[in-house]
Amino acid sequence: MKKIKGFCLCGAVSFEVVNAFEKLFLCSCDQCRQITGSAFASNLFVAIEAFEWLEGADNIISYQVPGRDISKSFCQTCGSGVPWVNGDGTKIVVPAGSLSASVNVAERLRIFASEQPAWASELELVSSHLRFP
Ligand SMILES: [Zn+2]
Ligand SMILES: [Zn+2]
Repeated sequence: MKKIKGFCLCGAVSFEVVNAFEKLFLCSCDQCRQITGSAFASNLFVAIEAFEWLEGADNIISYQVPGRDISKSFCQTCGSGVPWVNGDGTKIVVPAGSLSASVNVAERLRIFASEQPAWASELELVSSHLRFP
């Protein structure tokens, strides 16, 4: 099975994962919005066996949201979001933006759209630029 690599921005943390994801969840819940500082979290879930740290696993800091199965793990050098283990320890949650190349995902879902901020709705109507306008 073909693998894909992921990195934090500074390169201290890297990992490898099988590039065959069932679902990509774009989650706009309040917790994901706060923890990413963005409109939504972009999370892929994979079996632990499909995942391997390459470097820098000891350079990661994690925060667990009390009472929720949501964590944030990040490189303590550059702050980039990196993968974390879900609450019951059965899956690795991979932030899609940490992956290096095209991700093979069977299905994409937007979830908690009810908590999506107004500024992040109707994105197809927002003017689009290849680089700075
Ligand atoms: Zn880093
Ligand atoms: Zn969420």
